Amino acid sequence: MKRFISIILILTLVATAVLSGCAQRGQAGGDAVSLALSSEIQNWEGTDGVSAAALLGSMKKAQDKGGKLSIVCTTFPQYDWVRQIVGDSTDRVDLTLLLNSRIDLHSYQPSVGDIVRISECDLFIYVGGESDGWVEDILERVVNDDMIVINMIETIGDSAKIEEVIEGMEKDSHDGDGDGNIGDADDDGHGGDGDDEHDEEYDEHVWLSLKNAQILCAVIAYVISALDVEYAETYQNNATGYIEKLDSLDSEYQKAVSSAPVKTLLFGDRFPFRYLVDDYGIGYYAAFSGCSAETEASFDTIIFLTEKVDELGLKSIMVTESSDKRLAETIIRESNLGNQQILVLDAMQSVTISDETSGTTYLSIMESNLNTIKEALSYS
Ligand SMILES: [Zn+2]
Repeated sequence: MKRFISIILILTLVATAVLSGCAQRGQAGGDAVSLALSSEIQNWEGTDGVSAAALLGSMKKAQDKGGKLSIVCTTFPQYDWVRQIVGDSTDRVDLTLLLNSRIDLHSYQPSVGDIVRISECDLFIYVGGESDGWVEDILERVVNDDMIVINMIETIGDSAKIEEVIEGMEKDSHDGDGDGNIGDADDDGHGGDGDDEHDEEYDEHVWLSLKNAQILCAVIAYVISALDVEYAETYQNNATGYIEKLDSLDSEYQKAVSSAPVKTLLFGDRFPFRYLVDDYGIGYYAAFSGCSAETEASFDTIIFLTEKVDELGLKSIMVTESSDKRLAETIIRESNLGNQQILVLDAMQSVTISDETSGTTYLSIMESNLNTIKEALSYS
């Protein structure tokens, strides 16, 4: 929360700098704005995700060339956030979503065109986790000192969580890239909490927390405002309105979970929702941690999850949007009741432009996820 407040404070300072800049429009006016922003940015320690020096360089470039701001996003959540912040000022920004087909972000490889787009943009926003490790390679090779890069995991700082393996989960084999070792080798991998040999890796699904989303939107709005000072006030107003919506949906989640009779979700699937469940104190069980590459659950895992379903009297089994539901169906078949429903929570890992043109937004997906969770946490 402290971090968030300091970012809001910075946003206010930026807005003030812009307003005072407007009062003395003209040749000198632009310099005054730059100066005011420069000092704020130099003092800015709100996030490790953005380099202040790069921001200054890019600001100057954007002001000099006076053209459209080019923004490239790897995945849908931050793409949609930029859209909300830009609002009606679409003529000022050229916005690209890279993962714009049904390819799940975990199996995406950039094309040459993608690499060119990234290397020529003013602002590049990516997740910073294991599935977009390819980004690091490209960034090392890109010769564009003026490009601003926002790494979402770095930006949320201490709120980033290490991927967790809990009781009943298949252990992820991070080192093996072959699929051949799934199953038999894992027999001793269960019930182990705090196993030291497990590679520590950040859980990259930071966008599935509405609290993280607010921080990330504040930072993105701050950077876009700095890059297009003339419209900074518009971007700030859009961001403020949007962050209020995120905040009120966050409260709705809390209210729904607090009054729910059931407090546990069980995933017959991978589990990218740790940020979301932790925000509201929802308990969980799942077959695989994070977005493990493994898809075959061992007998032990199936038995563990089936017994949990029976013990907790769960009426719903959760899956993510990319599940083939086979594991969930097996758990249901093996359970005492045998008639649970399968509910899908959307982790936004394969949203496309066609979804977007039909009105899908980050907020609409999170609203629909709330309804799904309400149903899963009820007894009916
Ligand atoms: Zn994932």
